[in-house]
Amino acid sequence: MSLKVLCDRILADGRSLEGVILKVDKFINHQMDPYLMKQVAVEFIRRFSDLRVNKIVTVEASGIAPSIMLGYMMELPVVFAKKKLPSTMQEAYVTTVHSFTKQSDTQLMISREYLTADDHVLFIDDFLAYGNAALAICDLCRQAGATVEGMGFIIEKEMLHGRELLQKEGISRIESLAIVDSLENNTIHIKED
Ligand code: 5GP
Repeated sequence: MSLKVLCDRILADGRSLEGVILKVDKFINHQMDPYLMKQVAVEFIRRFSDLRVNKIVTVEASGIAPSIMLGYMMELPVVFAKKKLPSTMQEAYVTTVHSFTKQSDTQLMISREYLTADDHVLFIDDFLAYGNAALAICDLCRQAGATVEGMGFIIEKEMLHGRELLQKEGISRIESLAIVDSLENNTIHIKED
């Protein structure tokens, strides 16, 4: 089941760019709509209510807004993987992620202090596209001995098959609040329930 208010907003304010990129910077990743983020967080809480997690993990920058809203409501700490190693971070788990949207490799890192073998992680991000960012988080969790209990995405671009990649990696709980199955011809098509 998709989140209707989100789907309506994507259709009203989203833009399809070159058939692969969905521009949502009017309400998700540049200008942000906190009330929509709240509705997103409430839906994630409903969908993941059976999971036992003690930490939310995301990637900077666009994953931070939904994650902090969710962390606030669930009263859980939120850790975001950084793209640059701060001089103050002594020891970190580091991995490389390939971005098809930017056509480049980026390093992601999380301090050893904030991801440990005691952690049961819920990963949250704005988009599931090819699944590489999510796989990189799996790698960081593996390095730390942490368990990924589930993954939640605001928008999934189904035609890029990221979900299948993550399922092959052993992630069984994947929830996306809106599933886009085509961006062809500058038209956004959202999968019906
Ligand atoms: P993946 O690693 O799954 O290919 O891509 C996930 C990351 O790329 C997300 O964190 C998101 O920030 C970015 N991304 C992927 N597709 C889109 C898109 O269509 N629009 C926007 N705005 N960001 C995207």
